[in-house]
Amino acid sequence: MSAPVRAGIVVTGTEVLTGTISDRNGPWLSEQLGELGVEVAHITCVGDRPQDMEAVLRFLEDEGVDLIVTSGGLGPTADDLTAEIVARFAGRELVLDERLERRITEIVQGFSHHLRRDPEAMRAGTRKQALVPRGATPLDPVGTAPGLVVPKEGGPTVLVLPGPPRELQAMWPAALEAPALREVLDRAEPYEYRVLRLFGVPESEIAKTLREIEAEGVDLGRLEITTCLRRGELEVEIRHRPGAEAEREALVEGIARRHGPRLFSRDGSTVDEQVAEMLAGKTIALAESCTGGGLAARLTDRPGSSAYVAGGVVAYSNEAKIDLLGVPAELIEARGAVSREVAEAMADGALERFGADVGVGITGIAGPGGGTEEKPVGYVCMCVKTRDGAKLERDPVIPGSRADVRERATLIAMHMLRRVLRGEAGSDGP
Ligand code: ATP
Ligand code: MG
Repeated sequence: MSAPVRAGIVVTGTEVLTGTISDRNGPWLSEQLGELGVEVAHITCVGDRPQDMEAVLRFLEDEGVDLIVTSGGLGPTADDLTAEIVARFAGRELVLDERLERRITEIVQGFSHHLRRDPEAMRAGTRKQALVPRGATPLDPVGTAPGLVVPKEGGPTVLVLPGPPRELQAMWPAALEAPALREVLDRAEPYEYRVLRLFGVPESEIAKTLREIEAEGVDLGRLEITTCLRRGELEVEIRHRPGAEAEREALVEGIARRHGPRLFSRDGSTVDEQVAEMLAGKTIALAESCTGGGLAARLTDRPGSSAYVAGGVVAYSNEAKIDLLGVPAELIEARGAVSREVAEAMADGALERFGADVGVGITGIAGPGGGTEEKPVGYVCMCVKTRDGAKLERDPVIPGSRADVRERATLIAMHMLRRVLRGEAGSDGP
């Protein structure tokens, strides 16, 4: 197997360094490069000081990376220095690219009608942006800033991209076409990827599972396995070079055997995708209290959800539960607003009032106040019911902050929905 192609990403901008805005380019670039089989060794963030940026470029070169991708600092103003610094790093002088200058002038004139800018300053800005290191390939601007592919004799190729994420992402396909970049990327051997998702399995348990599978004689050495707790679910990412498929399948089978239905996705699909798919041809209605519409928001986050989401009610007060969902006042009186009975009555109300096929009721104590010994903070009652009588209930005590309780309850409800839609709801109880 040939040596992997390694890359470093340099995110520039004082506003990112200080935390005023959070970096959206590093992770995005890393994901794209990963998919191409490039091993990303570093993501570094530097401010707008030239010596800091130079130091990072030198560091990455010393680390032996094949490719450096930079983001930001390509604008027309004096604090945008990336092109100049990269040119110096690659030992190439900056020369004016007249075709590029005309192109940027056209673009700038296109919106200068709206902005009353000083024409002299604009010309200077355009000229600065049209300076290209000799021998580099300019990439057509998406905003006003062109990108650059700058080869370095005996060193890494540098891909220079603009800072605004929309511009950077829009320029990516053109960058991949540039021959100087192709030459590096063609040496990379893509990985095979598989993502598994589990719900209700702690990270420590997966570590134990992996040890057991290895002890059974499955060679995991050729697989790169990353486990990550993400939005309350455990994500297991398996990466490998072509040729280790048998080991990967043995691993997947080993996990499936141990964790059964808690392994809910073997193909990387999310619970949201699965639920959406299974709701095709049906309608769903929601009655939410402590999640405040969080489940409705999650379901309607998907384009096309109008085909199956009938609607929902955020019934926060007792009056709303009674008036809007038909929950009997006596039931609330007898069992309390947070109770399994009221959650079911809310699901019934949603089913009936919206004429839906599936109804969900959620009522709980999000905290931090309002808990009692019997019903502590984090106690949430949930019920999923279908028009034809299938029912699944849960009433966990969810640990954490108010935000944690609300988010977790929404996630549990998604997984309950999945089970009910798969026809796995028992006649009663969790
Ligand atoms: P411009 O011509 O807009 O100045 P530029 O290539 O010089 O483009 P920067 O000046 O570094 O880019 O950044 C411009 C703006 O783009 C930032 O103020 C910020 O809003 C956004 N931006 C830059 N880098 C990032 C990043 N890593 N993550 C998210 N947003 C970013
Ligand atoms: Mg700028």
